[in-house]
Amino acid sequence: WPLSSLLVFSSYSSRPLLLHRRKMASHVVGYPRMGPKRELKFALESFWDGKSSAADLQKVSQDLRCSIWKQMSDAGVKYIPSNTFSYYDQVLDATAMLGAVPQRYGWSGGEIGFDTYFSMARGNASVPAMEMTKWFDTNYHYIVPELAPDTKFTYASHKAVSEYKEAKALGIDTVPVLIGPVTYLLLSKPAKGVEKAFPLLSLLGNVLPVYKEVIAELKAAGASWVQFDEPTLVMDLDAHQLEAFTKAYSELESSFSGLNVLIETYFADVPSEAYKTITSLNGISGFGFDLVRGTKTLDLIKSSGFPIGKYLFAGVVDGRNIWANDLAASLNTLNDLEAVVGKDKLVVSTSCSLMHTAVDLVNETKLDAEIKSWLAFAAQKVVEVNALAKALAGHKDEAFFSANAAAQASRKSSPRVTNQEVQKAAAALKGSDHRRATDVSARLDAQQKKLNLPILPTTTIGSFPQTMDLRRVRREYKANKISEEEYVNAIKEEINKVVKLQEELDIDVLVHGEPERNDMVEYFGEQLSGFAFTVNGWVQSYGSRCVKPPIIYGDVSRPRPMTVFWSSMAQSMTSHPMKGMLTGPVTILNWSFVRNDQPRFETCYQIALAIKKEVEDLEAAGIQVIQIDEAALREGLPLRKSEQAFYLDWAVHSFRITNCGVKDTTQIHTHMCYSNFNDIIHSIIDMDADVITIENSRSDEKLLSVFREGVKYGAGIGPGVYDIHSPRIPSTEEIADRINKMLAVLESKILWVNPDCGLKTRKYTEVKPALTNMVSAAKLLREQL
Ligand code: GLN
Ligand code: ZN
Repeated sequence: WPLSSLLVFSSYSSRPLLLHRRKMASHVVGYPRMGPKRELKFALESFWDGKSSAADLQKVSQDLRCSIWKQMSDAGVKYIPSNTFSYYDQVLDATAMLGAVPQRYGWSGGEIGFDTYFSMARGNASVPAMEMTKWFDTNYHYIVPELAPDTKFTYASHKAVSEYKEAKALGIDTVPVLIGPVTYLLLSKPAKGVEKAFPLLSLLGNVLPVYKEVIAELKAAGASWVQFDEPTLVMDLDAHQLEAFTKAYSELESSFSGLNVLIETYFADVPSEAYKTITSLNGISGFGFDLVRGTKTLDLIKSSGFPIGKYLFAGVVDGRNIWANDLAASLNTLNDLEAVVGKDKLVVSTSCSLMHTAVDLVNETKLDAEIKSWLAFAAQKVVEVNALAKALAGHKDEAFFSANAAAQASRKSSPRVTNQEVQKAAAALKGSDHRRATDVSARLDAQQKKLNLPILPTTTIGSFPQTMDLRRVRREYKANKISEEEYVNAIKEEINKVVKLQEELDIDVLVHGEPERNDMVEYFGEQLSGFAFTVNGWVQSYGSRCVKPPIIYGDVSRPRPMTVFWSSMAQSMTSHPMKGMLTGPVTILNWSFVRNDQPRFETCYQIALAIKKEVEDLEAAGIQVIQIDEAALREGLPLRKSEQAFYLDWAVHSFRITNCGVKDTTQIHTHMCYSNFNDIIHSIIDMDADVITIENSRSDEKLLSVFREGVKYGAGIGPGVYDIHSPRIPSTEEIADRINKMLAVLESKILWVNPDCGLKTRKYTEVKPALTNMVSAAKLLREQL
């Protein structure tokens, strides 16, 4: 033993620390894999572009894994996760482990290599990628397993074992993390061609043998713990689904001998039935719960008790946000829990994998010291977890705790956080309803008198192609390399080009093209008070793609108009109506790191009031059509049905607040990027926009089926007529065909013709012919009506 540790004395008593040399009971559910400066992203993209070798990619990845393990080990974490690294996605890793490769990728057995793996993730020249969907209510997307009754499961990726060994070689004993078998199946979908959907859980007996092989191999390699992530346990599960957990873990029990098993849940509270089911399983050593989002689980543990002799992994450090933990409050919670589960059975943990937060605050060079003191990214959260575990074991780092308490206090009392006027205005909204005075059909009539649009009016969603030149101009202006005048002229020229193009194409309601915007949330956040921005606060969205959410730290207000200058300039260039273009409050909220010191709805109401001012200024400046994008409204929908109505209520209310004060003749549009909102259609109607444009073309008309089933819709609606995510140019006939299908279920007088979403990721060589065909199709059908 190093001499130094023998000489250190605890600050509390004179007992030497030697007595407590064991690592503190601390655990981390998972860690970001991208690296502090997105090293993995760049390594992946360079490999995909053929600019570097597989060995280069493996080297970068190995370095990342090793530095993460070392960092956690140095911090003193006892239960360090492995197999939380992934070249693309952890669910795809599970698919590889189980050898559940869909036939079209032509895999012929053996260990799955990069070729097959990345073909499933991204498609290849001849085969499209597997489907991707949102991971619970996060902004992370996983690759959806495609299973059929005859899917053969074989042990085809030894990644979990090799990562365990890799860490072991560094002298670090880790906890290998596997997606649990039940969650894996519940997140899968029946493969195409499986005509009748079959019960996915019927495959349970087929996947378990592979899990057994993996467990045996992990044990042989020396693993003493294994973590099964079963986050579906926080969902509304029926008795049959819950039974699957009992079946799965009873069947695995015999292979668990000599091994400690942790069942980890996250993202919400665990309903009491599910809690009962898992805590009565034999052969499981510990259970992990999200105690940040799952405050009801906390009550459940206290009221229903906890199985004797088992470990409770208490997720008190928030893995979904960037705020420093309130250590004193967490320690209180932990003390309460210790009284329930017993002294040696409590493990301090994160609420979920830290992959949903930013990586390391150390790399934030532009945040001021005060705001920085309020934050903790993944690297800092690891330290927090351990500090709590130490405190629980009687070795509280007083200096660390008091610095934390000081930061908590400064955040509470900072004038940068609280703006009395905003607080008052937002409080005044509570309990009241905000609606436009006139009903939508009367408004549409009033608007039509002014706008005089043809039937099946055409429009686009907002952005036009973002060229390299444009990005350079914005960058140079930001860096003070070009003057304001030069910048304004460059943007003005671009707007003019976009306006002229739309006039040539004969589009009816124009847009300015959004050349001044880098991102639809950041652009507004930068002009609102209460927002801060990071330079490296990236969070993985899918594969190599990351997002950098703004941080909402204070009461939100709008010091000055944000878009009026550009929108009025654009309107002055044309006699066509020019749409004002705003991002809605719910989308700004859902795509930011939000405050945890007030409910989400309060922050949302504040943003709504700021956007309301902008709407009214646009109207006063003569803009007659204003689009308020709510691209992310559906994303914020809570996982549990019991909480959805409340969310939808305040989200929809926030949207209405932004535009309840405009004249009947001002036309309010909104736009959504989801076609998958059949279940929330009544909330969408309740938003009471005059026109809604929505993604539609990729969803086999799922959207139209709502109207076919008789949902009454009286406002304007523009289901996208072509997919802007693909470079493919749709023909006039194809678009006309689509519009015809819409006309079969929607009245012609409410139908609009537009693409699925903004055009910013496309090239002009794609946009021009596509829009030409779109306008031709609209004209063709107008003649026939
Ligand atoms: N107005 C935005 C655009 O066209 C909308 C983007 C979105 O819906 N994601 O780019
Ligand atoms: Zn969109």
